[in-house]
Amino acid sequence: MSAPEGSAAPRTVIITGGSRGLGEGIVQHFLDAGDRVATCARSETDAVRTWQKDPAYDGRFLFREVDLADREACTAFVKDVLGEWKSVDILVNNAGVARDGILALFSDEDTDTVIDLNLKATIHLSRQIVRNMLAHGGGRIVNISSITGLTGYRGLSVYGATKAALDGFTRGLAREVGSRKITVNSIASGYLKTEMSHGLDDGQLQQIIRRTPAGRLGDPEDIARAIAFLVDEKNDWITGQVLVVDGGLTA
Ligand code: NAP
Repeated sequence: MSAPEGSAAPRTVIITGGSRGLGEGIVQHFLDAGDRVATCARSETDAVRTWQKDPAYDGRFLFREVDLADREACTAFVKDVLGEWKSVDILVNNAGVARDGILALFSDEDTDTVIDLNLKATIHLSRQIVRNMLAHGGGRIVNISSITGLTGYRGLSVYGATKAALDGFTRGLAREVGSRKITVNSIASGYLKTEMSHGLDDGQLQQIIRRTPAGRLGDPEDIARAIAFLVDEKNDWITGQVLVVDGGLTA
């Protein structure tokens, strides 16, 4: 499935939410490695338009405007990808949404939004891709969870619950498909410099940086490198794990 860059057949990779933020960095990482990348988001961005126009990515970049919380749209996306490339080697469940607020004041609508995307859409998409991986003999799944699912964070109890649930999903699915050459792991990410962390005020961000041994917020590339490690075909004995990538914040 993977080999030194430039010398292997391209892998087919689905990365959800690749239009910006962490997903954008992950898409760029796999495109740079020579792979075929399919991604989706509810709307197109400059990054997507740039990839679509770049002749270097001709025939190996696919984007669809999809709301993953809409099951039919999600299924249609999978159909498009398989129609194009037949099978999927790697699935990175990255798309996620955070809604900030103490539970006593948290709305039903925000609760549904967070659970529908972070958890239910991830399960729905993974089920379809696992069927394909089982049929074609293996694969790699990486779920992007969060240290808030491990340690908790005030104002992010519902979001943290979905991320802790994703880690449980990782462990259960890893047991189910381990004998079929499919690995499933989570990356519990620390705080990154993306739009999602814009919900934190400057005081909170400075406090996080002060408490982080590495002394900075994370970049998408910090997470993309960890994903590359987990999906390497040689790493077939690492499965059902939650790899914390957070600059040491939770050490
Ligand atoms: P972000 O900047 O808000 O980007 C989220 C991506 O997901 C965008 O491409 C967005 O595009 C897409 N998306 C959102 N809702 C969607 C939907 N319903 N259907 C399809 N796509 C949707 O967030 P990020 O910081 O890159 O976060 C990426 C992942 O890392 C998330 O799972 C997040 O929980 C996790 N994480 C982030 C941090 C952090 O500090 N940023 C920390 C730990 C974990 P559209 O809005 O156009 O749909």
